[in-house]
Amino acid sequence: MPKVTATSKLYNHNERLTVSHQISSSSGSTSTGRRHATYTTTSINVPNAPDPDNAMDVNVPYFDHSEPRTEVRQEVIAELPSVTVNAKQWAKRYENSDVPLNTWKEFHDEYLDECMILEGRGKFFKQCAGCNKAFPQYQCKDCIHGPLWCKDCIVLRHDQSPLHQIEMWNSLFFQKTSLHELGLRVQLGHTVGRRCSTAERGHVDFAVIDSNGIHKVNVNFCRCHGLPHRHQLLRIGWWPATPLQPQTCTTMEVLKHFHLLNLQGKVPGYSFFRALEFQTDNTGLSASGTNTGSSNDTDISQLHAMVKRAGHAFDPGGISATAPGSLAIPCRACPIPNINLPPGWENVPPAQAWLYMLIVGMDTNFRMMSRLRSSIFKDPSLAPGWAYFVDNGPYAEFIKEYVDMEEIRTCVGFQALLNMLTKKSRGLRATGMGAVSCARHQLFRALRMGDLQKGERQCNMDYIFASSWFTNFWSREKLLPPHLLLAFPNVQAKVPKFHLSSHVESCHAPYSLGYTLGVGRTDGEGVERNWDGLNGQGPSTKEMGPGNQWDTLDDCCGHANWRKIVGLGNLLLKRMLLALPEALRLRKDFVVFDECLRDEDNSQVVQWEAEVAAWVEDKSLPDPYRVPPSDVTLAQSVAHDVSPGAFLSLGMDIQGQQESMRREVKGLSRQTVLQTASLVERRTTLLKRIQCFRDIQ
Ligand SMILES: [Zn+2]
Ligand SMILES: [Zn+2]
Ligand SMILES: [Zn+2]
Ligand SMILES: [Zn+2]
Repeated sequence: MPKVTATSKLYNHNERLTVSHQISSSSGSTSTGRRHATYTTTSINVPNAPDPDNAMDVNVPYFDHSEPRTEVRQEVIAELPSVTVNAKQWAKRYENSDVPLNTWKEFHDEYLDECMILEGRGKFFKQCAGCNKAFPQYQCKDCIHGPLWCKDCIVLRHDQSPLHQIEMWNSLFFQKTSLHELGLRVQLGHTVGRRCSTAERGHVDFAVIDSNGIHKVNVNFCRCHGLPHRHQLLRIGWWPATPLQPQTCTTMEVLKHFHLLNLQGKVPGYSFFRALEFQTDNTGLSASGTNTGSSNDTDISQLHAMVKRAGHAFDPGGISATAPGSLAIPCRACPIPNINLPPGWENVPPAQAWLYMLIVGMDTNFRMMSRLRSSIFKDPSLAPGWAYFVDNGPYAEFIKEYVDMEEIRTCVGFQALLNMLTKKSRGLRATGMGAVSCARHQLFRALRMGDLQKGERQCNMDYIFASSWFTNFWSREKLLPPHLLLAFPNVQAKVPKFHLSSHVESCHAPYSLGYTLGVGRTDGEGVERNWDGLNGQGPSTKEMGPGNQWDTLDDCCGHANWRKIVGLGNLLLKRMLLALPEALRLRKDFVVFDECLRDEDNSQVVQWEAEVAAWVEDKSLPDPYRVPPSDVTLAQSVAHDVSPGAFLSLGMDIQGQQESMRREVKGLSRQTVLQTASLVERRTTLLKRIQCFRDIQ
């Protein structure tokens, strides 16, 4: 083998052709009723700039990115006549959208002037916009800005909007006042404009929290019909903080507003209501005296919204008749009998059974711990086992019998690290939680979540996994050792792709998703990605009492599922557009490869196929995918003469590993300790192999 200098281009992946696929999302039906889709692909030869931190990049000249060179490639896919391939057009660049601040800078003064106009009496200062009375003094911050009103007109106009913020001109500036101070009274229980003859005045400090602040409001309760105050308030959309003698209300809109902020931005209830206080009075000098600790209201109102959406509002049994798990949003892309499966699906031949296979992933998360706060008695769950969390009653009952059970011991190499994470259990009610989600679409599954009292124990995970599929089975066979219960003929256990490499080699083929029929490109890591959305809630939920925590997390899972389910249609279409041409291409490659092998030695191929088929049926047979251990080490092979084939194969192997690591590092926005550790380890191995490779050169 001739020696090559260190600047060898053999494993310089920066000079490869980068193919980027862009999908234009036009799809629909042609006049013949056939679905069609447009598939656009572009090939761009843009070498990346050298990465100074990457020891694998060797002497790559700097490439200027300012003028991307493009070579438009047109692809024709003969097998898919309905797929047309277009060249990608580069969008025009505009400074206004590229550097918007540059454009805006020119209008700086103009904007400031306009803002200042709003601070003064502006153009409409002479007459009341309602009755033309001279020198109007009042304006509303929540109606359209500009017009000024006299006192009578502004009160009259806000009969139906009593929560607007009013300001009064004091001859120097606009000063805060309120409709409460101007004498507006809100009449409950009657139609607009009617007064109740037997009205009862509400509390003098009656307050309503809205998204624009906290308002004191004069209310008149109606006494004609003997309707309790809470009913009268709920009927105008004000959520009473307490069912008995309410003095504080929250509008349903602000509850919804907070709910979304909390789910999307993880804003804690305290911060949100504190911000509303500042919005009411940013100096904090006027004591509002309003109790704004209303995040419980949000929980309760959200629960009602979930019940409403799940169609249980008219359940004759009332809210307590809600069936287990029925508030969870199911995955519409996973098989559900009688909903998205064709009739007779259960009788398809075994070779097609994969079409109706459900793939779920199970994982634990030790960031979602919970401290010993409150108790189940003081803080019960309002929706026990109605959505994603298992009902704590039967769950705790079951776990009690296995208090002494040890944590799951597997062959996983990072068990030591895991133990470190789970060891601290002092002061904790739960050290983490376990969950099951569908592996392909990453939706949390109903009744598949539970607290872990002590690390990752078999009893917890079995319950969480099996509780509702095999409910009857459980109640009957509860005392069987848990590992026997999962031995169902139609359940196959696999290890997610990222995790598999850290298991011992004998686990690889039997637990590989790659060698499982019908799973496609499922990597099984979906449940892991799901944690990212929940972890943000961890700091606040871990301080909650048990019931509150479960209900809050139920709610978060509902939000996550909903966001995914509304995007599922587009996502699956995109994936299909990517998958179809790829599948055809790969199939073609495979056929060529297979034919070559058969030409060379047909009997060997037939024998391999038989071995694999037998092994699939009976995993105790020798593993056909396992490479027999070699008694020649790399060091020895260097000393001896290396065959050109082995040398090339090592080079390609290194290149493949570099590529996969590079992609992985780019794909990880936030690395866990485990991922970092595994990467460092693999990087070291890779560098060693590169060194070997160079020595052979
Ligand atoms: Zn007026
Ligand atoms: Zn207004
Ligand atoms: Zn009345
Ligand atoms: Zn699914």
